[in-house]
Amino acid sequence: MAKAQKTEWVWLECKECGDRNYRTPVNVQGGVPKIELKKFCKRERKHTVHKIRRK
Ligand SMILES: [Zn+2]
Repeated sequence: MAKAQKTEWVWLECKECGDRNYRTPVNVQGGVPKIELKKFCKRERKHTVHKIRRK
């Protein structure tokens, strides 16, 4: 039996200013993963921590 992968597109939201700068697909099977990534924020022009935000 083939296991269906449940993938959802989520936003990566800047923790500092709340800007949603990136979109990425994540596997949400068994819950949304708690991922925090250092990404470049265009508004602040520096690298900040971004976390997953669902629609
Ligand atoms: Zn920011």
